[in-house]
Amino acid sequence: MTQTHVFDVIIVGGGGAGLMAALNASRTAKTAVLSKLYPTRSHTGAAQGGVGAALGNLEEDRWEWHAFDTVKGSDYLGDQDAIDFMCEEAIQAVYDLEHFGLPFSRTPDGRIAQRPFGGHTNNETKKPVRRACYAADRTGHMILQTLYQQCLRNGINFYDEFQVLDLLVQGGVTAGVVAVELATGELHVFHAKSVIFATGGHGRIWDITSNAYAYTGDGVAVTLRRGIPAEDMEFFQFHPTGIYKLGILITEAVRGEGGVLFNGLGERFMERYAPTIKDLASRDVTSRAIYLEVKEGRGIKGKNYVYLDIRPETVNLYAEKDGRTNPDGTPYRVTAEEILAKIPDIADFCRTYLGVDPVKDPMPIQPTAHYAMGGIPTDKFGQVVIDDKNTVFPGLFAAGECACVSVHGANRLGTNSLVDLIVFGKHSGLLAAAYANGSSLPSLPNDPTDFSRQQIDQLMNGSGREKAANLGREMRQVMMDNVGVFRTEEGLAQAVEKVQELRERFKQVKVGDTSKIFNTELLNTWELGNMLDLALVTSITALDRKESRGAHARDDFPSRDDQNWLKHSLAWMDGDKVRLDYKPVVITKYAPKERVY
Ligand SMILES: Cc1cc2nc3c(=O)[nH]c(=O)nc-3n(C[C@H](O)[C@H](O)[C@H](O)COP(=O)(O)OP(=O)(O)OC[C@H]3O[C@@H](n4cnc5c(N)ncnc54)[C@H](O)[C@@H]3O)c2cc1C
Repeated sequence: MTQTHVFDVIIVGGGGAGLMAALNASRTAKTAVLSKLYPTRSHTGAAQGGVGAALGNLEEDRWEWHAFDTVKGSDYLGDQDAIDFMCEEAIQAVYDLEHFGLPFSRTPDGRIAQRPFGGHTNNETKKPVRRACYAADRTGHMILQTLYQQCLRNGINFYDEFQVLDLLVQGGVTAGVVAVELATGELHVFHAKSVIFATGGHGRIWDITSNAYAYTGDGVAVTLRRGIPAEDMEFFQFHPTGIYKLGILITEAVRGEGGVLFNGLGERFMERYAPTIKDLASRDVTSRAIYLEVKEGRGIKGKNYVYLDIRPETVNLYAEKDGRTNPDGTPYRVTAEEILAKIPDIADFCRTYLGVDPVKDPMPIQPTAHYAMGGIPTDKFGQVVIDDKNTVFPGLFAAGECACVSVHGANRLGTNSLVDLIVFGKHSGLLAAAYANGSSLPSLPNDPTDFSRQQIDQLMNGSGREKAANLGREMRQVMMDNVGVFRTEEGLAQAVEKVQELRERFKQVKVGDTSKIFNTELLNTWELGNMLDLALVTSITALDRKESRGAHARDDFPSRDDQNWLKHSLAWMDGDKVRLDYKPVVITKYAPKERVY
């Protein structure tokens, strides 16, 4: 028998955004968190470098500078009202974390320590500013643990290892979700007034990625199937420094601490691409620079990687050349011990996966699929909006990486995702509770588990002529080759065709494991279906956008085209068809300009 649970607010996802939402919603509303993973295994725990906020602890900084850097980083596609809101609120949200007990790294006099990060500048001098608050290179881990402890303290209801398969809608308003309990295989109905999706990203559709296995885009896929559009899906960030072949992330903090990129000729090539900010240029610029170096035969040993060098002798040499100083004006110099204290986990990864000690040898790196700028469209309070007029869908919210507010526009700055989680997690939680308290429980649809059962039955009863593993491999390869750092009309058209073919072949997959208990084969196959839908939407929106902006770089349209393309894409899925529309970007203070680094 299907169990039904009733709550005011249901949060789908136990990562940073979900837990921040839960803490805030639970103050006034009966709240539950559903998570396919045990919450502390969420990808937020992998975030290394930091959370940006203009605290100004080490030097002058202002939230307005943070906002302008974010607008510029977004290549002017970010909504400026939402960006202002985020950067101003970031300061309080970081202090909230401090008060929750987060063990930040500290300055000698006890304030939260801050370090430079790509794209974050003093707007007057144009030099990098120390804005990223951090807990060594485990900032996300500490955020997740701290928030989880606070949730337990506040008695929030957790349904761990419950995977949401469907969103329930009744009479045009949100009515809850349906989830499968992994331990039993049973479906459960969660009947609620408000639902917040906080399901994270979808980088697993690419072959080389920094993302966790769970990053399969479930939230976006579930809402697409219920007629909610996805926004700006063509924009997916490739982080410049993934470990060669493995994709594991080497945080940008390594460059913040003075690490330098070199090509096969031993040249510090970023001097050519970003003469002022050099190795700390924004991620899209740096990833493209690496790609071009490799394409022109200047990879290490002619292969498709370059070096990231954090050896103290290199850092000190280039710090001297750049005239880099400490906050007190003394020259910036580091020892191997100081480096290791700031990036202990990275050093471990390098030794374990590469056999390389980063204070003795340079690290081989290549761009890695990292972050979804696009996702479920929301306003700046986390309410889901469903068309070009920003019509609110009652009771439905989204926050974190699965949402598109849009504060990151065409390219996210480092440290701005953790900011996004805590600011929009908090506000979506507060508003979801307020909405629930002001509305009555909608009735459930007849047979609420019907669509979930249909999806499972299809996977269990396919012909078995195709294997999910093969389809996944082919999808990741075509996305990497054709919908990656650089894109062309021809490559994108091929990708659309290939993904459509894979979606057709997916109908022939049969799940071999028929047991109910922890049937991971069934759920992984369902996730592949989600990824195929998102791969299709991503390649179709990328094919349509005939310009280069932020992370979306078209060989055949190399310039940004504000005349025709200063707008957000919206994509709806209707069976095998994708329908596109656009909505304007919110511009308040900053007129679009060319980006110069
Ligand atoms: C290696 C790495 C390093 C990073 N470093 C930084 C950094 O230094 N600074 C920064 O700002 N950003 C960083 N980022 C980005 C940032 O960490 C993520 O964007 C952010 O943590 C996402 O948080 P979230 O709460 O949206 O999702 P997550 O933390 O991933 O949580 C998603 C949750 O959704 C649940 N879920 C998903 N699907 C379902 C479903 N169908 N049913 C039920 N539950 C579901 C999962 O169980 C999980 O609990 C990094 C990302 C990576 C991959």
